[in-house]
Amino acid sequence: MDNPSSEGSAPRRTLRRKAVRKNYDENAMDEPIETSKKKFKTKQQLEKETETEALIALSVGFPIDELLEDEIRAGVVRELGGKEQNDYIVVRNHIVARWRSNVRVWLLKDRIRESVSSECEHLISAAYEFLLYNGFINFGVSPLFNGYVPEDGSEGSVIVVGAGLAGLAAARQLLSFGFKVVVLEGRSRPGGRVYTQRMGGKERFAAVELGGSVITGLHANPLGVLARQLAIPLHKVRDHCPLYNSEGEVVDKAVDSNVEFGFNKLLDKVAEVREMMGGDANKVSLGEVLETLRVLYGVAKDSEERKLFDWHLANLEYANAGCLSNLSAAYWDQDDPYEMGGDHCFLAGGNWRLINALAEGLPILYGKRVDAIRYGDRGVEVVSGSQRFQGDMILCTVPLGVLKKRCIKFEPELPRKKQAAIDRLGFGLLNKVAMLFPSVFWGDDLDTFGCLNDSSIDRGEFFLFYAYHTVSGGPALVALVAGEAAQRFESTEPSTLLHRVMKKLRGIYGPKGVVVPDPIQTICTKWGSDPFSYGSYSHVRVGSSGVDYDILAESVNNRLFFAGEATTRQHPATMHGAYLSGLREASRIQRVVNVSRGYPRKPVQRYSGVSNDVLEDLFKRPDIASGQLSFVFNPSTDDPKSLGLVRVCFDSFEDDPTNHLQLYAILSWEQAQKLQELGESSNESKLTYMVNTLGLKLMGGNAVLDTCGALISVIANARKGRSRTRVVARH
Ligand SMILES: Cc1cc2nc3c(=O)[nH]c(=O)nc-3n(C[C@H](O)[C@H](O)[C@H](O)COP(=O)(O)OP(=O)(O)OC[C@H]3O[C@@H](n4cnc5c(N)ncnc54)[C@H](O)[C@@H]3O)c2cc1C
Repeated sequence: MDNPSSEGSAPRRTLRRKAVRKNYDENAMDEPIETSKKKFKTKQQLEKETETEALIALSVGFPIDELLEDEIRAGVVRELGGKEQNDYIVVRNHIVARWRSNVRVWLLKDRIRESVSSECEHLISAAYEFLLYNGFINFGVSPLFNGYVPEDGSEGSVIVVGAGLAGLAAARQLLSFGFKVVVLEGRSRPGGRVYTQRMGGKERFAAVELGGSVITGLHANPLGVLARQLAIPLHKVRDHCPLYNSEGEVVDKAVDSNVEFGFNKLLDKVAEVREMMGGDANKVSLGEVLETLRVLYGVAKDSEERKLFDWHLANLEYANAGCLSNLSAAYWDQDDPYEMGGDHCFLAGGNWRLINALAEGLPILYGKRVDAIRYGDRGVEVVSGSQRFQGDMILCTVPLGVLKKRCIKFEPELPRKKQAAIDRLGFGLLNKVAMLFPSVFWGDDLDTFGCLNDSSIDRGEFFLFYAYHTVSGGPALVALVAGEAAQRFESTEPSTLLHRVMKKLRGIYGPKGVVVPDPIQTICTKWGSDPFSYGSYSHVRVGSSGVDYDILAESVNNRLFFAGEATTRQHPATMHGAYLSGLREASRIQRVVNVSRGYPRKPVQRYSGVSNDVLEDLFKRPDIASGQLSFVFNPSTDDPKSLGLVRVCFDSFEDDPTNHLQLYAILSWEQAQKLQELGESSNESKLTYMVNTLGLKLMGGNAVLDTCGALISVIANARKGRSRTRVVARH
């Protein structure tokens, strides 16, 4: 979870422990594909490149100089620890880095052959297959992936329960592996705990996050990959986070840093104490240990300091969606070493944009609350009301809260070990009040501000505000309610809650002479009583440990599989963790199928490149030709967002008709129409419009074949059975 920091100080949680890793920046622009092709390189250049690629692979989760256990299990090399293993690692890192340099494009094995020696052919195949089938490359929602998804469904059928990030990620991945998939979702929308609500009316509106909001650490984050694929800008959550006391004054800087320093020191001491306590540390709560140490070391003794200290405790309860009295002193921070590095970000326009893209084209049945899951030797059956769905396997992604309440009857019952882990792990609460105002009164430069509470028991009530005006399209604020206050919140009348939060805001801004207007619209969440969640996200409770996440992830009888944020030991309680768990289970299901049929998966028939002739052929009969621009589109769709290609022919410099420069760009049918509306304007102004207004990227012939091969092939195939639906204007 995200942790804001106050001005001038280090981010609050990073003072404690830093995962020592180098990362690359997910913000990086997609590289033109030509740059990585075989060129003459000096030995030093190659060594430098290998080193950079190793660091990129490290960011994505591959240890330096070692294989993952999954790689060993997959038998990627014949002998462990020798030269072959070293060569494999170099090739694998190269492939990872190559794809991450341009995540919009489906990386073909042939492209790797261009930059890796042919002596390593078997390693290219081993690494490529491993990375592809384990969700390290070619995952996500790039519009250019369409042609690569096989349609045969011959690998078997999987029923996915839940269309949250985990379910959506798994379903897309399984489809791309060649499975038949159906997703059963209890709600009437996809996204689960990621829920962007449009607030306001026609004049003033904003897209506000009621659930998962901040992408916590952009480096190597798969959600950053999705954002790049969809060209959605990200906004870094700025560090400046003033803390206000109940008189509306910013707390004294010296006292603030003092208390923060003391707080972080105590967390370090907790780590020492648990070392000394050994196994007994898991019998006590973080809250107990912290309070004992606070008294012992005399931290936050006066009432002003105590309120500040309470604010930090509330922030900790927010990060863990759990009261400190529940968190295990031994393992509450077991996932710290895996924290994603880099900026914490908001996605412009809201996270629904990722959800929509992930859900698009998936066979999701909404309003299907699953009541029972039956699994046996011959397959699985899912019961939803009076309906039954049958398949080969099932992937259950419902939240831990739903499993704890035993809302779904498993037949046979879940193994005792799994049920015990479900009962042991914690599932806590975070609630929000989302407010849309007529104007931004809190200051344009603020993304967060904090607020101290007078009593410890209320420490989590509206302790932190997120401002969404930079990304939501309107003046929206969200107040967070964590810890015990989050529990009481759900049984309090919304009008009372609203009165309290407005009192708080007016207490901060009133003394500064700022009039705080009444909100246009407000929403109070109730994640604890939501029957499709029963809480917000998981934490390690007293008596539990990181191992319980692993147990939750275990499959049962190779029929019943589990994904979701509470099944990942490394990234629990996060959106990216949920997404990665979906990719993980898709790979696991694929592996089980391979093993059960006794031989490796037959290569799924995928598109494998397109020739220049096909491209030339398409432009012989463009859908629109206007001056030096010609356009081709998929004739089988009417969707204005459907993609096609534009070709720009530049005049030859030497009056040689065979010597034309031709550049290409991908664009939507809508964009092509806008270009058409420019009418007879000059070629130059059309080009300027394409690049500056529409943001199109022009590329040469080779690059368009590399980048848009699948799109070209889809259009060419559709033209074969051409059913023209568009009326085409010609100039
Ligand atoms: C208030 C709040 C704030 C958060 N803030 C952040 C943040 O800032 N950053 C971050 O990274 N993470 C945040 N998270 C956590 C993040 O949202 C989750 O970890 C993630 O979205 C979980 O995804 P999932 O697929 O595991 O589960 P879900 O999204 O819950 O998906 C499970 C799906 O199963 C469905 N379902 C449940 N029961 C049934 C049934 N019986 N039959 C059929 N369908 C069923 C649900 O409707 C749901 O769609 C936040 C969560 C909350 C609640």
